Amino acid sequence: QAKLAGRNRYHVFDAEQDRHMRGQHESLERIRRALKHNEFTLYFQPKVNMRNGTVIGVEALIRWQHPERGLLPPAAFLPLIEDHPLAVDLGKWVIEHALGQIERWHDAGLHMPVSVNIGARQLQQADFVDHLRGVLAAHPQVKAGDLEMEVLETSALEDMAQASQVIDACRKIGVMFSLDDFGTGYSSLTYLKRLPVTHLKIDQSFVCDMLDDPDYLSILDGVLGLANAFGRQVVAEGVETVEHGAILLQLGCDLAQGYGIARPMPAGDFAAWMAAWRPDPAWSDLPLVERA
Ligand code: C2E
Ligand code: MG
Ligand code: MG
Ligand code: MG
Repeated sequence: QAKLAGRNRYHVFDAEQDRHMRGQHESLERIRRALKHNEFTLYFQPKVNMRNGTVIGVEALIRWQHPERGLLPPAAFLPLIEDHPLAVDLGKWVIEHALGQIERWHDAGLHMPVSVNIGARQLQQADFVDHLRGVLAAHPQVKAGDLEMEVLETSALEDMAQASQVIDACRKIGVMFSLDDFGTGYSSLTYLKRLPVTHLKIDQSFVCDMLDDPDYLSILDGVLGLANAFGRQVVAEGVETVEHGAILLQLGCDLAQGYGIARPMPAGDFAAWMAAWRPDPAWSDLPLVERA
């Protein structure tokens, strides 16, 4: 409404604003069509235990197989719909397809938990838990505990009371929850205690910086201690190098995800990757790091 009022009053801005709004409208239409024509796809990136070599699950990451522009990462289209109901539709599509994939793997004899990323708007939907219940009921072979929701620390903090209520309701039906990009949202210890999540995913920036700055080692050490005290498991994101893996293991962080383990891949590549994968022996062979 504010925009319309402004439009009548400030004629100078008319053309530009009009073009902007039309551009936005076109993008939305294009995304809506992509959803209808099945142009979205999920890639899967393994989460592993670096100590004992188990693959603990995979994270589903959305991609747009654009007919002209090729494979697009989420950063190329999710921001366009962030505050639009389409984000909720796309979010539902992701959950449904993740469950479908768990089921296909199950039918192929592979038990593989899948985590999906949940946007802030999606989490705030009144029918979020009902939809989840419905999709789970439609996939009776899938155990609720094999589905995990990754919620950005920042979205959970937007409306703590609401978020923790939804997380609680999902936990009651057995669905797992983790806080994504942990460390970027300034959650206080009290908040962390109130959010009934099972896992914390340490943001990749901490892992990336710990080699250059010993302060980050101390931060990681602190977060691991805290997570331990609260009974939360920690997954390190962005493990790109052998050093990253080795240091995390030395700090007692066994669970990790990153290009150094595997890049996100199409579902069809996963079984072959899994059959070939071994933990890197160098993760346990590197000399101990100097602690800050
Ligand atoms: P995220 O949930 O924190 O996912 C991790 C991102 O880091 C992924 O980027 C992944 O490809 C990338 N990554 C993994 N290992 C490494 C590494 O070793 N180094 C570096 N530099 N990056 C690594 P991607 O797939 O582009 O996704 C970006 C973000 O988009 C995700 O961050 C998540 O917040 C969001 N996203 C992805 N899929 C969905 C979705 O289906 N729904 C929603 N709402 N958000 C999604
Ligand atoms: Mg994530
Ligand atoms: Mg993350
Ligand atoms: Mg991220």
